[in-house]
Amino acid sequence: WTEGTAVDAQRSLAELAALAETAGSEVLEAFVQRRDKPDAATYVGSGKANEIRDIVAATGADTVICDGELTPGQLNQLEKVLKVKVVDRTALILDIFAQHATSREGKAQVELAQMQYMLPRLRGWGESLSRQAGGRVAGGGGIGTRGPGETKIETDRRRIRSRVSKLRREIAGMATARTTQRNSRDRNATPSVAIAGYTNAGKSSLLNQLTDAGVLVQDALFATLDPTVRRAETVDGREYTLTDTVGFVRHLPHQLVDAFRSTLEEVAASDLLLHIVDGSDPDPLGQINAVHVVLNDIDASSVPELIVVNKVDAMSEEDVLLLRQALPGAVWISARTGEGIEALRDVIAARLPHPAVHVEVLVP
Ligand code: GDP
Repeated sequence: WTEGTAVDAQRSLAELAALAETAGSEVLEAFVQRRDKPDAATYVGSGKANEIRDIVAATGADTVICDGELTPGQLNQLEKVLKVKVVDRTALILDIFAQHATSREGKAQVELAQMQYMLPRLRGWGESLSRQAGGRVAGGGGIGTRGPGETKIETDRRRIRSRVSKLRREIAGMATARTTQRNSRDRNATPSVAIAGYTNAGKSSLLNQLTDAGVLVQDALFATLDPTVRRAETVDGREYTLTDTVGFVRHLPHQLVDAFRSTLEEVAASDLLLHIVDGSDPDPLGQINAVHVVLNDIDASSVPELIVVNKVDAMSEEDVLLLRQALPGAVWISARTGEGIEALRDVIAARLPHPAVHVEVLVP
């Protein structure tokens, strides 16, 4: 079950499958259930749940992933019927973030988000994990068991709450350090550009084009998690900082938006936002909206935004024409072939604030 039309559901499900593969799973079967609203007890309804149970048995699947956020009760109930681990979209996304976080701050933020997700679901997690320990699911592990879920089975809410407070304090400390760094950049009047965009839009590739930074480019959702700050130069020789941000995705769990708030403040504090859009995606405008929802949420909507449509090399002329009408002020590039990059550099130079002219008077 998902919101919207059948096409939306298929698209969302395809993205879910890609996310699951990014998390290291092999997707065996995908199906859509049409309902007016999710079933209060089992999310998919009891008939469908039985059907899925049979598919699980026939394919030997060890996990069922639902496209949406299930209530703790629905998770529990569905696991009882299916007899395998059930994971929802939120847990899957949290899991991917947990696997990819590299910085100390990123790790702490993801753990905090996982804790918050876990707290109301403690019972469900405990049950599914102990069932695993009983040997029903070969190999154990997998989505939803990495991170705090695995080691905290016996942990009571109080211990989790105290861990949450500790993480919050640590993160607040790290955010202060970052603000200090940012302030020192401000004092030096180095203009800053932030790159934001839907996951896989080509943010890392563009960062490389603009800075020769040698950032990892991956054809996987969420390659970019921790913000990278690089130095770059405008065509007229001024230095600016270029910050790559976390990948955005539809239905980014609210726990993560909260967790990444301080990281995303980099975006709110920048002089220019390059919003990268994958022009070859079936729904570029939908991606733009998903990013705008998050940007509004972190009060970054007042930062001047430049829409950069990427992957023109992979678009048909007809699609380019259509999208040009919808996005009149956009810059068109291919981070792969380099097409349009020079024009983009010119626009960046023109849009960045010029530093106040410094006149030094030398008194003899
Ligand atoms: P990010 O997740 O936004 O950082 O995206 P990446 O820069 O990692 O790129 C995601 C995928 O899109 C990679 O497979 C890139 O090779 C591919 N890609 C990036 N830019 C272009 C482009 O201009 N054209 C095409 N065809 N593919 C691109």
